[in-house]
Amino acid sequence: MSIIVQKFGGSSVANIERLELVADHIIREKEKGNQVVVVVSAQGKTTDKLITEEKEITDEPDKREHDVLVSTGEQITIAKLSMLLIKKGYKSVSLTGWQIPIITNSEYNNGRIRYIHNKTIEDYLNSDNIVVVAGFQGVDENGNITTLGRGGSDTTAVALAASLKAERCDIYTDVDGVFTSDPRIVKNVKQLSNVSYEEMLEMSSMGAKVLHNRCVEIGQKYNVPIYVKSTFEKESVGTLVSKNNLEDLVISGVTKDDYISRITIVGLENKIGKTYELFKILSNNRINVDVIVQSFGEYITKDIAFTVKMNDLNKTLQVLNENKDKIGAKDILHTENLSKVSIIGVGIANKPGVATGMFEALYENNINMHMITTSEIKISVLVNSNMADLAVKAIHEKFID
Ligand code: ADP
Ligand code: ASP
Ligand code: MG
Repeated sequence: MSIIVQKFGGSSVANIERLELVADHIIREKEKGNQVVVVVSAQGKTTDKLITEEKEITDEPDKREHDVLVSTGEQITIAKLSMLLIKKGYKSVSLTGWQIPIITNSEYNNGRIRYIHNKTIEDYLNSDNIVVVAGFQGVDENGNITTLGRGGSDTTAVALAASLKAERCDIYTDVDGVFTSDPRIVKNVKQLSNVSYEEMLEMSSMGAKVLHNRCVEIGQKYNVPIYVKSTFEKESVGTLVSKNNLEDLVISGVTKDDYISRITIVGLENKIGKTYELFKILSNNRINVDVIVQSFGEYITKDIAFTVKMNDLNKTLQVLNENKDKIGAKDILHTENLSKVSIIGVGIANKPGVATGMFEALYENNINMHMITTSEIKISVLVNSNMADLAVKAIHEKFID
């Protein structure tokens, strides 16, 4: 008997009519003779609402308590869905992350799954239950509730599929599959029938929120086939994320990631170890840095610019200002409201003209680039957020339309 893991996102479980559709998808798999594990998100915008309510108390909530609060949304969905399945004549049981348990590290708000105790789930499956699991949540070794980062229910689903050695993981969502760009921004997007883990990981990490990037990492590590498909379209063929890229596309996608800020350290002494010292201070304070650019350093001083998420901006500036003398910087500048726009495709680095085409699309639309980074598989530029959608459309049009 095969185990199938199905995951349904927030919009797929938003109300009772949609839960009925979800139940149909689950029952269809069950009736085929499979053992079914279902992972669900909080209903609709519940998680956003909880965060808004939290802001009525404080802008800087205690991280542990934040996780206790935001993990509650998923618990409501599992109970409702399980009740519905029972009403329809099926055996079903709901489980929270800590009942299973799904053990994570202790990094609140951004926990990583360490291991999953399969036995609880397996016992319920073997007694013919449909097991409904709360996504996005786990528990650390000291019994503290943790969450896996926004969009983390995808990661719960793929991690469960890996741990239970499921045949596949189906991610049901509000679009038909993975497209060459966000269908909410670009009109003429193409659906990818297949995409490799490598490309998908890059697309998710660069802002394509259709899949949480860590779920792709886990899928790749444990070779779990991931199907992304629509909850609402009966005939949805979806997209298969697996080892192979069967599409003959040079460019697999254009993405954007918002809420980025750039910090520039001006006049840093041009001495060995200065850059290391700066980034050591940041990492000691658990600040994640993304794009880094350093000026040539041909003179007595050099400038270093790097990006952090807007959420981390205040903390980063505070840490830098506290250490200004130690760093020996003349000035610390920052720019807010930037977006990273990226073009992704296997072997992009070896395809002449991709960078030029991207820069041309931006130039034709009068969009200024604040920073550029490249890798084997992507080129990213930083632009003002109010230009980001236009940039995505222009680049998509140049390469894919
Ligand atoms: P769920 O609630 O089901 O987890 P999400 O909102 O997290 O759904 O992810 C689905 C959304 O991802 C889509 O509605 C779409 O707007 C967005 N998206 C961004 N980039 C892409 C892409 N390349 N392909 C498909 N969807 C994308
Ligand atoms: N409910 C969580 C969120 O909104 C997790 C998820 O939907 O995947 O981020
Ligand atoms: Mg999601």
